[in-house]
Amino acid sequence: MSEFCVVCGRTGVPLEEGVCTDCFVKSHALVSVKAHPKVVICPECGARKTGESWEGAGSPALLSKEDLLPFLLPLDGVAIRRVEFEEGGTSRLLRELSGTIAVRFRGEERQVRVKFEVRIEHHTCPACSRRSGGFYTSVIQLRGPEGRRRGNSRDLREGLRRAWDAVLPEARAEWRSALSWFEPLKEGWDFYLTDTDAAKSLARWMRLRLGAKLSESPSLWGRKDGREVYRVTFCLRLPASRLEPEVRPGLVVAPEPSET
Ligand SMILES: [Zn+2]
Ligand SMILES: [Zn+2]
Repeated sequence: MSEFCVVCGRTGVPLEEGVCTDCFVKSHALVSVKAHPKVVICPECGARKTGESWEGAGSPALLSKEDLLPFLLPLDGVAIRRVEFEEGGTSRLLRELSGTIAVRFRGEERQVRVKFEVRIEHHTCPACSRRSGGFYTSVIQLRGPEGRRRGNSRDLREGLRRAWDAVLPEARAEWRSALSWFEPLKEGWDFYLTDTDAAKSLARWMRLRLGAKLSESPSLWGRKDGREVYRVTFCLRLPASRLEPEVRPGLVVAPEPSET
């Protein structure tokens, strides 16, 4: 006797607990959506609040896959492969999402469609509120090597920023979130931070990662609860070798063809 699906009666199809995959899928949502999805966005910088921390300053206001994927709850044994979302709705604070999700389930690819609403909340993130108040406890100065400088200050700034940006994403999120704002200067960059411990850790980590020299200088800032409060300046000096422009072989500019 060959086995058959207890729901549709088909034979010759894989069964699990007597039910074929097609019938199982009809009665079970392979991907469901979390109840009351909500995205908290900083209207100043676009950062999103995830748990207690804020990430992604500079993100656009439009919802992205990174915003939406956490709301999708796949059933056990369902692997999400691809997701496409379309955003609709007329309200700025309530977005209607329809998603097409390609999943793999019991060895087959299937498509799942979901529709849900996402509520948007705007809150100014701590970094933006401190920035608007000009609050900082420490500064990391990013500078070139000591002594005579070659080239112009724009090249120096670009080289410094390239080196900084190349490694910053690997730094701990809690150090990065202490970065408040930055200012370009003739001799480099000043990064203002709202937490001195984080600034110290970040500066020391950068020293190792960038092969830089680091000096620290506290300056008296004020008094709080009878204690002297210091602001600390960390000066990172990068070696000249770190400031070379990127070498990109293959990006050779061809000479203009000469007219004859
Ligand atoms: Zn069936
Ligand atoms: Zn912000």
